Formats: sequence, structure tokens, C-alpha cells
Amino acid sequence: MDSVSKIFVAGHRGLVGSAILRKLIQDGYTKIVRRTHEELDLTDQAAVRDFFETEKPEYVFLAAARVGGIIANSTYSADFIRENLQIQTNVIESAHANGVKKLLFLGTSCIYPKLAPQPIKEEYLMTGPLEDTNRAYATAKIAGIEMCQAYHRQYGSNFISVMPTNLYGPNDNFHPQQAHVLPALLRRFHDAKVSGTHTVEVWGTGEPLREFLHVDDLGTACIFLMERYENSSIINIGTGEEVTIKELANLVQKTVGYTGDVVWDASKPDGTPRKLLDTSKIHKLGWHHTIGLADGLASTYQWLVEHQEERL
Ligand code: GDP
Repeated sequence: MDSVSKIFVAGHRGLVGSAILRKLIQDGYTKIVRRTHEELDLTDQAAVRDFFETEKPEYVFLAAARVGGIIANSTYSADFIRENLQIQTNVIESAHANGVKKLLFLGTSCIYPKLAPQPIKEEYLMTGPLEDTNRAYATAKIAGIEMCQAYHRQYGSNFISVMPTNLYGPNDNFHPQQAHVLPALLRRFHDAKVSGTHTVEVWGTGEPLREFLHVDDLGTACIFLMERYENSSIINIGTGEEVTIKELANLVQKTVGYTGDVVWDASKPDGTPRKLLDTSKIHKLGWHHTIGLADGLASTYQWLVEHQEERL
């Protein structure tokens, strides 16, 4: 990629796409193509084909996806599998048909088996059953990885797939019930502080372990890999550090400055017990995260307070 390459960021208004876009602009890339959902429906095969034929992007970051937290994933599993399969199939096929030089597909850590040994190495993909609550979403993403690899084998396409750990940051979904744990807790603790509510409910037992990566670090990693990683095998992106959900809830409470009590709702699912990615592959290439969880939470909370009207 050079500064005048034509780059399409699919999903540029989402958590991941907007971080990639910010970083591309910051790094001096000038020909960035973007379309809002209203301008281009990526589930519409004919529209995607027309778009690629007209715009002819050279590089594609495929960050558009239907995503959500543990409850949204199990409630809307048909929508999650259908929309993700449609989006990625349309974009990958059109990228191939229009000679895209390189495509980066965003996967997810939930493609790995529920009980994978920890930390999770890339080669553990397809070695055991998936976590039930997000199996439909994960299956769509696994199909996307397979497509990138199959296009590489059959047509020599330079399509790579990256697996980020749990992400957070600006432009996330902060819905109190349907979002992922970190943004959902920021929202609920904030609302409780503002309304003077005495308790905040947090789901599950608090014992599961999760790794959290600020999305600006992910943006840096994606551009780094687009420039240097030429292999169709998947590659993890994470911090190598983990916290329990209980520790996370305490940190969010402190960040927000909420003085009430936390009540654990054990009727809600814990999901997979532990999910820590092995990041030795990307570390060997020379990339490391730079934003620690406490700092990342503080800046994300600041962002939420400033943008909360739009993010309800
Ligand atoms: P996961 O990493 O794919 O399991 O997705 P989530 O971010 O939705 O959930 C992570 C963990 O946080 C699970 O153990 C949840 O039970 C727990 N959790 C606690 N409170 C919440 C909450 O308010 N929302 C969500 N989504 N998860 C929560």
C-alpha cells in the first residue's frame, strides 16, 4: 500500500472500521473509499458487484459485520449467520473478480473451540466444538476464513484473515443489554450514577477471564499486517493480558465513579470460561499493543460521555 493506493474500508462507521480509517488518515493515505450502510448495502450482491466494478479499489479492509454480545448472538443467531455470510461472500467474490491486490478479513476469537487450551494458538481452529451462544456467528466467520484461503489456493488471491481478541473503544455499540460486556457495563454504571440508582446488575459469576484490546491498537495492527503479512494462515491480534469479569466490573465502576453496589445475576450465561489469544506470531513480526486497559477504559468512557446522545 502506498499513500495514493485506493483503499476500501468496508464498515467504516463501526468500531473496527472507524479505527482503521482513523489510522489510515493519520498515516497519510489519501484515496480512501467509504460507503455508509444507506449508500451501499453489503448484503446486496448486485450492489456490491456494481460498486467494485465502478470504484476498482486496490486494497480492502473487510470490517463490516453484524456483531453483538452474548445475548444478542443467541437471540438473533439466524440474522448473525445470514448477514455475515452474505456480506463476506459478496465482498470477497467481488474483490477477486475485480483484481483487488490485497484483502484483510476481520475474524474473531470466538472461531476457536470453547475449551481450547490457553493461550489460544492459531492452529487450534477446528480442533473442537464451538461455544454454543455464538456458534452461528463463529461459523460464518470460519466460512470467511476458509473462503480467503480457498481463493488464495485456487486463484492466488492475496487475502489474509486476522483474529482480534475482545475489542473496545470509540464507536462501539453501548446498548445496555445487547452490547459486549465492556461497553454494556460502561453504559449501565454511567446510567446508574446519573440516575442515582443504588445497584447495578452484572451478569454471570464474574469468574470468566477475558482479554481486551483497544480498537486503536487493532487499527495499527491491521495496517501493519496489510503491509507486511503475506500468508493465508490466520493470525491472532491481542494483548496477551487477561482479567476476570469481576476485575473488569471493578475497574469500570472506578472509571465511572459509581458508588453504589454490584449485584451478580447468575441466571445469565458466563459463556466460554477463558479466552486468551496466543500473540507470539504477531509479536515475532514486531507488533505490540500500546494502550493499557485502565487508560483505554478512561478514554472510552470520556468518549461515551461526549457522544452518549448518539449512542443510546
Ligand atoms: P463473549 O466474550 O463472547 O462471551 O461476549 P460478552 O462480551 O458478551 O461477554 C463476556 C462475559 O461478560 C460473559 O461471561 C458475560 O456473562 C459477562 N457479562 C457480565 N455482564 C455483562 C453484560 O452486561 N453484558 C454482556 N454482554 N456480558 C456481560
